[in-house]
Amino acid sequence: MSDRPIVIKNTPEIETMREAGRVNAAVLELVKDMIRPGITTQDLDAVAEDYILKNGGKPAFKNYPGPYPYPATLTISINEELVHGIPGNRKLVDGDIVSVDCGTILDGFVADSAFTVGVGEISAEAQQLLDVTEKALYKGIEKMRPGNRIGDVSATIQQFVEGYGFHVPREYTGHGVGRAMHEGPLVPNFGVSGRGIPLRPGITVAIEPMVMVGTHRTQVLDDRWTVISADRSLTAHFEHSVAVTEDEPIILTAQ
Ligand code: MG
Ligand code: MG
Repeated sequence: MSDRPIVIKNTPEIETMREAGRVNAAVLELVKDMIRPGITTQDLDAVAEDYILKNGGKPAFKNYPGPYPYPATLTISINEELVHGIPGNRKLVDGDIVSVDCGTILDGFVADSAFTVGVGEISAEAQQLLDVTEKALYKGIEKMRPGNRIGDVSATIQQFVEGYGFHVPREYTGHGVGRAMHEGPLVPNFGVSGRGIPLRPGITVAIEPMVMVGTHRTQVLDDRWTVISADRSLTAHFEHSVAVTEDEPIILTAQ
């Protein structure tokens, strides 16, 4: 992934990405409202796919190349599942924390965004994990300005997360996003301030803190897609696609 080119977008292209991002945000909002004990993850997936298609888009994850073509519209990752969980007949139960990641292609551009939410009552530790992960995302976005480098985004996320005793994975990162879901540059959730490529207007990336309670180590399940924390501790994931401009960063996947 690190060899992929960085593609600078002009203003009309950023506006198109913003439209894709609005549809993607609406999908995630719809899914979030359905999350409750007893619903299956494939129920959520079906609603997401339907919404994207009815709004003129295409699910970006479906058939995405991997160990085998990705089989669904969403990735839904529960508790120790960090990312890339495949929807199926599993029912959500009270106390679960659920990460939903969605990608939408609209007018040739991809929007990529994710959230994690509790099902019913969750533990204080789980709530703190969600709060820290979401805040880490916005701390990272705040660094998306000309004059900063990717390392400033990465280091900010890592230091904030580790300040709470939580951990970030090394193998899975944020990434450039545009006509392709994965472009350059990589946006790791760990790094050193002042390092990496300089940010400039027209750079568009998906920033996505992934956070684990126990250690930074991950493992892939037998389905060859689902990534879990190696020690089965709780995990969370928040993501926005973001554009660098002359001044304030634009959150492309906001509503
Ligand atoms: Mg994503
Ligand atoms: Mg992503």
